[in-house]
Amino acid sequence: MIKLAKLNNRPEIFHSIQGEGKNLGKPSVFIRLSLCNLYCKWCDTDYTWNWQGTPYPHNNDAIPGYQKFEKDEMMAVLGDEEIAGIVDDYNCKNLVITGGEPLVQQKSLISLLRLLRDNERGYHIEYETNGTFIPLPEVDALSHQYNVSIKLSNSGVSYEDRIEPEAIAWFAASPKSNFKFVVDTEQDMEEVQAIINKYNISNDVVYLMPQGSSVESLRQKQNWIVEVCKQYNYNYSDRMHIHIWGAKRGI
Ligand code: SF4
Repeated sequence: MIKLAKLNNRPEIFHSIQGEGKNLGKPSVFIRLSLCNLYCKWCDTDYTWNWQGTPYPHNNDAIPGYQKFEKDEMMAVLGDEEIAGIVDDYNCKNLVITGGEPLVQQKSLISLLRLLRDNERGYHIEYETNGTFIPLPEVDALSHQYNVSIKLSNSGVSYEDRIEPEAIAWFAASPKSNFKFVVDTEQDMEEVQAIINKYNISNDVVYLMPQGSSVESLRQKQNWIVEVCKQYNYNYSDRMHIHIWGAKRGI
Protein backbone atom coordinates (compact mmCIF):
# COMPACT_ATOMS: atom_id res chain seq x y z
CA MET A 1 0.00 0.00 0.00
CA ILE A 2 1.23 3.48 -0.86
CA LYS A 3 0.49 6.78 0.86
CA LEU A 4 -0.49 9.49 -1.59
CA ALA A 5 -1.28 13.15 -1.08
CA LYS A 6 -5.00 13.84 -1.10
CA LEU A 7 -6.62 16.63 -3.08
CA ASN A 8 -10.38 17.32 -3.08
CA ASN A 9 -10.83 14.05 -1.23
CA ARG A 10 -9.13 12.09 -4.02
CA PRO A 11 -5.57 10.77 -4.38
CA GLU A 12 -3.41 13.40 -6.08
CA ILE A 13 -2.76 11.77 -9.45
CA PHE A 14 -3.16 14.18 -12.33
CA HIS A 15 -2.36 14.72 -16.00
CA SER A 16 -0.47 17.89 -16.82
CA ILE A 17 2.82 19.04 -18.31
CA GLN A 18 6.16 18.78 -16.58
CA GLY A 19 6.75 22.36 -15.42
CA GLU A 20 10.41 22.10 -14.41
CA GLY A 21 13.80 20.73 -15.35
CA LYS A 22 14.96 18.41 -18.10
CA ASN A 23 11.52 17.39 -19.37
CA LEU A 24 9.93 20.83 -19.07
CA GLY A 25 6.87 20.99 -21.28
CA LYS A 26 6.42 17.21 -21.59
CA PRO A 27 2.89 15.90 -21.04
CA SER A 28 3.09 13.76 -17.91
CA VAL A 29 1.01 12.03 -15.30
CA PHE A 30 2.03 13.05 -11.79
CA ILE A 31 1.68 10.70 -8.85
CA ARG A 32 2.14 12.78 -5.73
CA LEU A 33 3.12 10.72 -2.71
CA SER A 34 2.70 11.87 0.85
CA LEU A 35 5.56 12.16 3.40
CA CYS A 36 8.93 13.87 3.29
CA ASN A 37 12.05 13.46 5.42
CA LEU A 38 12.92 17.18 5.07
CA TYR A 39 11.11 20.40 6.03
CA CYS A 40 11.95 23.18 3.57
CA LYS A 41 10.53 26.48 4.74
CA TRP A 42 9.40 27.45 1.20
CA CYS A 43 8.05 24.01 0.27
CA ASP A 44 4.96 24.36 -1.92
CA THR A 45 3.76 20.85 -1.09
CA ASP A 46 3.81 21.34 2.67
CA TYR A 47 0.52 19.41 2.84
CA THR A 48 2.60 16.25 2.33
CA TRP A 49 4.60 16.61 5.56
CA ASN A 50 3.93 19.71 7.68
CA TRP A 51 1.70 17.91 10.18
CA GLN A 52 0.09 19.39 13.24
CA GLY A 53 2.33 19.09 16.26
CA THR A 54 5.63 19.15 14.32
CA PRO A 55 8.11 21.96 15.13
CA TYR A 56 9.08 23.07 11.61
CA PRO A 57 8.70 26.74 10.68
CA HIS A 58 7.31 27.52 7.21
CA ASN A 59 7.07 30.75 5.20
CA ASN A 60 3.30 30.24 5.14
CA ASP A 61 3.24 30.75 8.93
CA ALA A 62 3.06 34.48 8.07
CA ILE A 63 -0.23 34.00 6.19
CA PRO A 64 -3.18 34.78 8.47
CA GLY A 65 -5.10 31.59 9.21
CA TYR A 66 -2.39 29.19 7.94
CA GLN A 67 -2.34 26.02 9.99
CA LYS A 68 -0.26 22.90 9.87
CA PHE A 69 -2.06 19.96 8.30
CA GLU A 70 -4.00 17.10 9.83
CA LYS A 71 -2.15 14.02 8.60
CA ASP A 72 -5.15 11.74 8.15
CA GLU A 73 -7.03 14.37 6.16
CA MET A 74 -4.17 14.89 3.70
CA MET A 75 -3.30 11.28 2.94
CA ALA A 76 -4.93 8.59 0.78
CA VAL A 77 -3.72 5.00 1.02
CA LEU A 78 -4.04 3.03 -2.22
CA GLY A 79 -3.01 -0.37 -3.58
CA ASP A 80 -0.91 -0.88 -6.71
CA GLU A 81 -3.78 -1.93 -8.99
CA GLU A 82 -5.86 1.05 -7.97
CA ILE A 83 -3.01 3.48 -8.72
CA ALA A 84 -2.12 1.81 -12.03
CA GLY A 85 -5.80 1.88 -13.03
CA ILE A 86 -6.02 5.65 -12.47
CA VAL A 87 -2.77 6.23 -14.36
CA ASP A 88 -3.87 4.04 -17.30
CA ASP A 89 -6.96 6.18 -17.86
CA TYR A 90 -4.82 9.15 -18.93
CA ASN A 91 -3.23 7.66 -22.06
CA CYS A 92 0.12 9.35 -21.29
CA LYS A 93 3.40 7.42 -21.10
CA ASN A 94 5.55 9.78 -18.99
CA LEU A 95 5.06 9.29 -15.27
CA VAL A 96 6.50 11.63 -12.66
CA ILE A 97 6.60 10.16 -9.17
CA THR A 98 6.86 13.10 -6.83
CA GLY A 99 5.96 14.22 -3.34
CA GLY A 100 6.92 15.00 -0.67
CA GLU A 101 9.93 12.76 -1.07
CA PRO A 102 8.86 9.69 -3.06
CA LEU A 103 11.81 7.54 -2.05
CA VAL A 104 10.67 7.60 1.59
CA GLN A 105 8.27 4.86 0.42
CA GLN A 106 10.57 3.17 -2.06
CA LYS A 107 10.18 -0.34 -0.61
CA SER A 108 6.42 -0.09 -1.12
CA LEU A 109 6.93 1.28 -4.64
CA ILE A 110 8.65 -1.81 -6.03
CA SER A 111 5.48 -3.81 -6.75
CA LEU A 112 3.78 -0.74 -8.30
CA LEU A 113 6.80 -0.13 -10.52
CA ARG A 114 6.71 -3.76 -11.69
CA LEU A 115 3.08 -3.30 -12.65
CA LEU A 116 3.72 -0.01 -14.45
CA ARG A 117 6.72 -1.39 -16.34
CA ASP A 118 4.72 -4.35 -17.58
CA ASN A 119 5.35 -4.60 -21.33
CA GLU A 120 1.82 -3.66 -22.28
CA ARG A 121 1.99 -0.50 -20.22
CA GLY A 122 5.59 0.54 -20.91
CA TYR A 123 5.69 3.76 -18.93
CA HIS A 124 8.73 6.02 -18.69
CA ILE A 125 9.28 6.70 -15.00
CA GLU A 126 10.97 9.73 -13.54
CA TYR A 127 11.26 10.96 -9.96
CA GLU A 128 11.44 14.30 -8.27
CA THR A 129 13.73 13.53 -5.35
CA ASN A 130 15.67 15.54 -2.77
CA GLY A 131 18.69 13.26 -3.19
CA THR A 132 18.91 11.97 0.37
CA PHE A 133 18.01 8.30 -0.33
CA ILE A 134 19.94 5.88 -2.52
CA PRO A 135 17.39 4.07 -4.70
CA LEU A 136 17.12 0.36 -3.94
CA PRO A 137 18.51 -1.84 -6.75
CA GLU A 138 14.97 -3.05 -7.55
CA VAL A 139 13.71 0.52 -7.80
CA ASP A 140 16.63 1.62 -9.95
CA ALA A 141 16.22 -1.30 -12.33
CA LEU A 142 12.61 -0.24 -12.98
CA SER A 143 13.20 3.52 -13.31
CA HIS A 144 14.48 5.81 -16.05
CA GLN A 145 15.23 9.24 -14.66
CA TYR A 146 16.01 11.02 -11.40
CA ASN A 147 15.47 14.75 -11.13
CA VAL A 148 17.62 15.36 -8.07
CA SER A 149 17.03 18.57 -6.16
CA ILE A 150 19.61 18.78 -3.39
CA LYS A 151 18.47 21.37 -0.90
CA LEU A 152 20.60 24.41 -0.04
CA SER A 153 20.74 26.38 3.21
CA ASN A 154 17.98 28.66 1.81
CA SER A 155 15.61 25.75 2.58
CA GLY A 156 16.09 26.20 6.33
CA VAL A 157 16.88 22.46 6.64
CA SER A 158 19.99 21.55 8.65
CA TYR A 159 23.09 20.56 6.67
CA GLU A 160 23.13 17.11 8.28
CA ASP A 161 19.55 16.44 7.20
CA ARG A 162 19.74 17.71 3.62
CA ILE A 163 23.24 16.57 2.57
CA GLU A 164 23.71 12.79 2.41
CA PRO A 165 27.14 12.37 0.81
CA GLU A 166 26.71 8.71 -0.14
CA ALA A 167 23.37 9.37 -1.79
CA ILE A 168 24.67 12.40 -3.71
CA ALA A 169 27.69 10.40 -4.89
CA TRP A 170 25.35 7.60 -6.04
CA PHE A 171 23.16 9.99 -8.06
CA ALA A 172 26.22 11.78 -9.46
CA ALA A 173 27.47 8.45 -10.81
CA SER A 174 24.12 7.46 -12.33
CA PRO A 175 23.54 8.30 -16.02
CA LYS A 176 19.84 8.61 -15.14
CA SER A 177 20.35 11.71 -12.96
CA ASN A 178 20.04 15.39 -13.56
CA PHE A 179 20.43 17.98 -10.80
CA LYS A 180 17.99 20.80 -10.22
CA PHE A 181 19.03 23.50 -7.75
CA VAL A 182 16.46 25.94 -6.41
CA VAL A 183 18.33 29.24 -6.08
CA ASP A 184 17.15 32.33 -4.31
CA THR A 185 20.10 34.74 -4.15
CA GLU A 186 23.51 34.96 -5.81
CA GLN A 187 25.09 33.78 -2.54
CA ASP A 188 23.40 30.40 -3.09
CA MET A 189 25.74 29.79 -6.03
CA GLU A 190 28.71 29.20 -3.72
CA GLU A 191 26.90 26.22 -2.23
CA VAL A 192 25.81 24.98 -5.65
CA GLN A 193 29.36 25.17 -7.04
CA ALA A 194 30.76 23.43 -3.97
CA ILE A 195 28.37 20.49 -4.45
CA ILE A 196 29.02 20.29 -8.19
CA ASN A 197 32.78 20.31 -7.66
CA LYS A 198 32.84 17.92 -4.72
CA TYR A 199 30.72 15.28 -6.47
CA ASN A 200 32.13 15.87 -9.94
CA ILE A 201 28.71 16.61 -11.45
CA SER A 202 28.81 17.48 -15.13
CA ASN A 203 27.63 21.05 -15.84
CA ASP A 204 25.37 19.90 -18.64
CA VAL A 205 23.13 17.95 -16.27
CA VAL A 206 22.76 20.92 -13.90
CA TYR A 207 19.55 22.97 -13.94
CA LEU A 208 19.23 26.23 -12.01
CA MET A 209 15.68 27.20 -11.12
CA PRO A 210 14.49 30.34 -9.33
CA GLN A 211 12.83 29.91 -5.96
CA GLY A 212 9.33 31.35 -5.95
CA SER A 213 5.68 30.45 -6.16
CA SER A 214 4.48 33.59 -7.94
CA VAL A 215 5.31 34.93 -11.41
CA GLU A 216 6.69 38.12 -9.83
CA SER A 217 9.11 36.30 -7.55
CA LEU A 218 10.37 34.14 -10.45
CA ARG A 219 10.87 37.17 -12.70
CA GLN A 220 12.87 39.01 -10.04
CA LYS A 221 15.53 36.29 -10.15
CA GLN A 222 15.54 35.05 -13.71
CA ASN A 223 18.01 37.52 -15.24
CA TRP A 224 20.96 36.87 -12.94
CA ILE A 225 20.32 33.12 -12.99
CA VAL A 226 20.34 33.10 -16.81
CA GLU A 227 23.69 34.93 -16.75
CA VAL A 228 25.16 32.30 -14.40
CA CYS A 229 23.85 29.54 -16.70
CA LYS A 230 25.53 31.19 -19.69
CA GLN A 231 28.80 31.53 -17.78
CA TYR A 232 29.00 27.90 -16.63
CA ASN A 233 26.95 26.10 -19.28
CA TYR A 234 24.29 25.13 -16.81
CA ASN A 235 20.67 24.83 -17.94
CA TYR A 236 18.06 27.35 -16.87
CA SER A 237 14.77 25.91 -15.68
CA ASP A 238 11.68 27.98 -15.25
CA ARG A 239 8.67 26.89 -13.21
CA MET A 240 6.30 26.90 -16.14
CA HIS A 241 3.27 25.71 -14.17
CA ILE A 242 3.48 28.89 -12.03
CA HIS A 243 3.29 31.05 -15.18
CA ILE A 244 0.28 29.11 -16.44
CA TRP A 245 -1.67 28.29 -13.28
CA GLY A 246 -0.06 30.16 -10.37
CA ALA A 247 0.44 28.19 -7.17
CA LYS A 248 -2.67 26.06 -7.75
CA ARG A 249 -2.51 22.39 -6.74
CA GLY A 250 -3.24 19.31 -8.83
CA ILE A 251 -2.70 20.85 -12.27
S1 SF4 B 1 12.36 18.10 0.05
FE1 SF4 B 1 10.79 18.77 -1.39
S2 SF4 B 1 8.85 17.99 -0.58
FE2 SF4 B 1 10.38 17.82 1.05
S3 SF4 B 1 10.10 19.68 2.25
FE3 SF4 B 1 11.72 20.10 0.73
S4 SF4 B 1 10.66 20.99 -1.06
FE4 SF4 B 1 9.10 20.01 0.25
